[in-house]
Amino acid sequence: MEIKIQEMMETRVKFLLSQSSPEVANALRRVLMSEVPKMAIDNVEFHLGPIMDEEGKEYESVSPLFDEIVAHRLGLVPIPTDLQLFVERSKCTCGGEGCPSCTIMYSLNKKGPCEVYSGDLEPLGDARFRVKDELIPIVRLGPGQAILVYASAELGKGKEHAKWQVTSGTGYKYLPSVKIDYHRCDNGGRCIPVCPKHVFERVEGKVKVVDEESCIMCLACADPEICKTKAIKVDGDSTRFVFEFETDGSLDAKTALIAALNILEAKFEEFKDMVSALEN
Ligand SMILES: [Zn+2]
Repeated sequence: MEIKIQEMMETRVKFLLSQSSPEVANALRRVLMSEVPKMAIDNVEFHLGPIMDEEGKEYESVSPLFDEIVAHRLGLVPIPTDLQLFVERSKCTCGGEGCPSCTIMYSLNKKGPCEVYSGDLEPLGDARFRVKDELIPIVRLGPGQAILVYASAELGKGKEHAKWQVTSGTGYKYLPSVKIDYHRCDNGGRCIPVCPKHVFERVEGKVKVVDEESCIMCLACADPEICKTKAIKVDGDSTRFVFEFETDGSLDAKTALIAALNILEAKFEEFKDMVSALEN
């Protein structure tokens, strides 16, 4: 298996996976979506009863949304994650009580009328755990309304809940190959407008493949009604894949990819051990 990075941005990556198989490519996709851990808010405590401001003005701890919905929205806010630092709460030396190795605590204190955003979450302690996406709307408070909550984030996996899913748009396609047989091609150019990805162009009067990699193998060009001479051959290489995904910002794309590869390797090792145990 070989990986060649084609585009690497902070939260997006595109790479060519080669010397591989559809099974391995799909295993990598599934690990990226459901096994790479990240921090997300899992516990939210709402203050009940009146809330006072500095001048003694009283607010009601209420918002137009049910507390469950506010908690759900807080859960989906991407929380900066350091995989070297955090361990799963259930496996932590604190015994699951919550400590700086397994939990990030946040407070949220806003008085209406105002909009409450993800950026209003204040980390208690280390400021580097401030939420990066500060403008995710949570709720709009009316006059006299206020919200005071304490929330704790912990490590989890996408297979448990979507709020722990690091990557989105995780997918791949076979590396496409588009060939024109010029002994057959009548140079009619009917394939040029039907291709949604603009793979073909007329270059110096001849129909040519100008952007092979963009092909999505829809086979619109090879349709016998379009290419009457059957000159176009579209194929996918089942050992090479163009792979792409984005992250929600809790991890950068490079960290997520390395974590997924390590998890996949560990899983294959575990599987190998189980098989050899059966043989013995
Ligand atoms: Zn702990």
